[in-house]
Amino acid sequence: MNKQIIILFGAPGAGKGTQAELLSDKLNLYYFETSKILEQKFHESEDFSSDSPERVIEVEGERYDILDEKKLWKEGKLCSPPFVTYLVKEKIKKLAGQGEGLVLAGSPRTIYEGEKIIPLLKELYGLENIKTVLIEISPEETLFRNTHRRICELMRHPILYNEETKNLKICPLDGSRLVERKGLDDPETIKIRLKEYKERTLPLVDFFEKQEIKVKKINGEQTVADVHKDILKAIR
Ligand SMILES: [Zn+2]
Repeated sequence: MNKQIIILFGAPGAGKGTQAELLSDKLNLYYFETSKILEQKFHESEDFSSDSPERVIEVEGERYDILDEKKLWKEGKLCSPPFVTYLVKEKIKKLAGQGEGLVLAGSPRTIYEGEKIIPLLKELYGLENIKTVLIEISPEETLFRNTHRRICELMRHPILYNEETKNLKICPLDGSRLVERKGLDDPETIKIRLKEYKERTLPLVDFFEKQEIKVKKINGEQTVADVHKDILKAIR
């Protein structure tokens, strides 16, 4: 198999999701969205009763309760890495089996996830097909973008705040109404997410280098189109 893996990372609000969608269209890659996988799992769990066995996922002998994980996520904290990694690995194996190349945004998010996911990706796709891009933005910009971010009602498409989108009332992709993301985007939650990013996600840069995967850094404080161009250059 000679399919590509592109891993995008960056602080909350760096535009990973938007860029991943563009790359997915441009290069015909499956947009692998960890937050969607988590959201879907949490959504399914809403119907579980308190004693339902489906509430618990067992990984390496430890038990993880989906509702506890959901609580962490709602507070802006990261879910337990073994829980996330389990879901992510299952999905990667399934997609690789279908011959899909992937663009990942938001995963791996911790060294733990990296240690589990990168060897799997190397095995399934080959080291030479894995490309990593860090989209850099300042903490001030992160805060500003996130407190102004909206999603669409129908498909939850994230709409970043910028000059092009600030007056939009409906989703450009499906025409549904744009609403604020309740709970996840208040300034306190974003500060927690930013701290989590710095302490737990950013160390992945060193980890990737040790894995012989070069991390290309690009400036995320440009227009969506220019960031996209820079990413294409970086992964050539
Ligand atoms: Zn939409």
